[in-house]
Amino acid sequence: MNCTDLLSHLGDYFDDQLTADLREELRAHTSTCQHCKVVLDTTRQTIAVYKGGEVYEVSTELRERLHTAIMSKCLQAKTH
Ligand SMILES: [Zn+2]
Repeated sequence: MNCTDLLSHLGDYFDDQLTADLREELRAHTSTCQHCKVVLDTTRQTIAVYKGGEVYEVSTELRERLHTAIMSKCLQAKTH
């Protein structure tokens, strides 16, 4: 799994729709990619704030923001 794969599964991850295999791959990626780990943690906190007892769906806007954040950070990381 790479950063783009992780992002494409992020919504399902937070909706708890991932298979055990994918969940494990996602976990493995965040253990090697600090940027995705940070994004994942931040998103989890954001969703916890939004949730408030209601079913929360990761909005398209949030996905876009995450995509931008992950890709810019991972691209930066590769140049160092
Ligand atoms: Zn990554």
